[in-house]
Amino acid sequence: MALSEKQKEIYARNIKLKEVGAEGQQKLIDSKVLVIGCGGLGSPVLLYLTMMGIGTIGLCDGDTVSLSNLNRQILYTMDDIGKSKAKQAATRLQAANPEANINIYPIFFTQKNAEEICKSYDIIVDCLDNFETRFILNDACIKLGIPFIHAGVSHYGGQLMTIIPGKSACLRCLFPRGADTQQNNSMLDNAILGATAGIIASMQVMEVFKYLMGLPVSDKGLVLYDGVRMTYDKIEINPLSSCSCRQGKLK
Ligand SMILES: [Zn+2]
Repeated sequence: MALSEKQKEIYARNIKLKEVGAEGQQKLIDSKVLVIGCGGLGSPVLLYLTMMGIGTIGLCDGDTVSLSNLNRQILYTMDDIGKSKAKQAATRLQAANPEANINIYPIFFTQKNAEEICKSYDIIVDCLDNFETRFILNDACIKLGIPFIHAGVSHYGGQLMTIIPGKSACLRCLFPRGADTQQNNSMLDNAILGATAGIIASMQVMEVFKYLMGLPVSDKGLVLYDGVRMTYDKIEINPLSSCSCRQGKLK
């Protein structure tokens, strides 16, 4: 399908990028991206994906908006307190791009519903806030063969890793001793500057964009961002031969 005149105008700045063009923009419109978690990371991720022109966006969150969310969760306002994050997010996104198909999952992401929610998407963005649920997402993506962009944020920094099943290391390769070992004391206080989530979320959207455009992604290890030192570091992570992602145990 050719781009309409209106689409050509909305996405003019995307189309001017030589890696995109009209053909690339059409690819973005034809893509299906799922975001798990509509909070600090999920808010900017969802806005940028929607405004980039992704045609089908799924969003999953069983939580409601609370006052302490409003230092960073830029999809919501005071009027949204107590309301479903997924439903309020969908309303805001639909206003930003009325042509997008927004699929809402206003439920908590669990082992029981994980595969059903994930199965029809091209790529998934991990905007969760705990490692127990991230491991559920990890296992569903490995089993279904769907790439996902992991990220986590705390205080003034964060981490990101793009996981391509069958190619890159997974979260279980990274943390073979399981989810419990991942919450250190500095993360338990929930402190975060909102802009930190914005930075890491923008990096996640860059990874989604590059994957959909067929450009190289950061799938060979962990990217670490430190906003105090203003530095990025990359740590190479190799797949563990003993990990369930390599043993076909999840198949
Ligand atoms: Zn693994």
